[in-house]
Amino acid sequence: RGRAAPRVRCVAEPIQKEAVRTRVKRNVNLGKLQAGYLFPEIARRRNAHLAQNPDARIISLGIGDTTEPIPKVIAEAMEAAARGLSTLEGYSGYGAEQGQGALRGALASTFYKGLGVKDSEIFVSDGAKCDISRLQLMFGPALSVAVQDPSYPAYVDSSVMLGQTGEYDTGVQQYRNIVYMPCTPQNNFFPDLSATPRTDVIFFCSPNNPTGNTASRAQLEELVAFARKNGSIIVYDSAYAIYVEDDSPKSIYEIPGAREVAIETGSFSKYAGFTGVRLGWTVVPDELQYEDGFPVIRDFNRVMCTCFNGASNIAQAGGLACLSPEGLAAMQELVAFYKENTRMLRATFTELGFSTYGGVNAPYVWVQFPGRSSWDVFEEILTKADIVTTPGSGFGPGGEGFVRASAFGHRKNIVEAIDRLKKLYGK
Ligand code: PLP
Repeated sequence: RGRAAPRVRCVAEPIQKEAVRTRVKRNVNLGKLQAGYLFPEIARRRNAHLAQNPDARIISLGIGDTTEPIPKVIAEAMEAAARGLSTLEGYSGYGAEQGQGALRGALASTFYKGLGVKDSEIFVSDGAKCDISRLQLMFGPALSVAVQDPSYPAYVDSSVMLGQTGEYDTGVQQYRNIVYMPCTPQNNFFPDLSATPRTDVIFFCSPNNPTGNTASRAQLEELVAFARKNGSIIVYDSAYAIYVEDDSPKSIYEIPGAREVAIETGSFSKYAGFTGVRLGWTVVPDELQYEDGFPVIRDFNRVMCTCFNGASNIAQAGGLACLSPEGLAAMQELVAFYKENTRMLRATFTELGFSTYGGVNAPYVWVQFPGRSSWDVFEEILTKADIVTTPGSGFGPGGEGFVRASAFGHRKNIVEAIDRLKKLYGK
């Protein structure tokens, strides 16, 4: 006859009490953050446009989220791992907080071959963005920080949250106590280090989001020499390294002397469509030390063990499959697809007469609109062509006058976007 259905109890409505407010003070650092993160603001404007034009078929060249399916060989490995969890032999619970040994080994031998990076120096995680915040937590509020301007917003915002900065100065559109290193066409997107004050930490991203530019070997040698001279730590974000097709370095550890001054963070997000799966890693070399000689790796290990319990075992199975010969080939094919999108977008903007940067070693094209505000251009492209881009000024004041076009998209959407852009800006 089966089990009795669960009984539903009727409870009287609670009597409405007087509204109360806690006596908890808001974290003042969170109060310093400006009008929301860039992408929610873009989503708000997109939705407003859609509300007014319900028939608009919006194409997004905005947020840098991947669009193409995860290659089968990689997805199947995750499927097998997930199925395995329902068996005695295949089940696993908490893993090592630092990641599975096999994956750490595969990362070392695939991306750091010949660079002296040990398996034990690689910490597998749920993504580069999360690692950036955990690195900030490790650094603490007392440190000073420099960022490229423009830059990926997570460096600045996590710095603000941790209390490393002062208030936002609306005049210059910068937070106090952060060193913004301008990266513009005038300096070939590499900061003038002779004019850059010393900071404890330097966030540096190459290939760069948003400019799509890649630092050359000589420039990275200069950066490492600068950090060594000043006793600074570089946090090198290599989330797009796989997109490099020329001889620009793919890792900061290609530069001699970097091991004593650099941490590197990487991600499977843009390599294999893992933005939703979540898998990344951070390298902390044994030689990297604080002023008092204490190894930084020991603190990072402590942070990972306290704030993180290891990446999902299913995601790690996917990561391992990414690094198999078939997985590597599949990732290259996926990246080649996005690179072709990038080439097409770049060619279009160039053809339309815009100065266009990046878009060779990175899935982003950085387009200049001299004398115009980025948000105005964003609105123009949104309202006249139903295309979402990203306003350059959202990445810092150095991005004013630019918009970023992301090449993550289905080919038919990229083709259609190109068509609309030609109609909007063609002579
Ligand atoms: N670093 C850079 C420069 C990025 O552009 C992104 C994502 O857009 C990330 C890190 C985030 O990577 P993950 O998805 O691994 O958190």
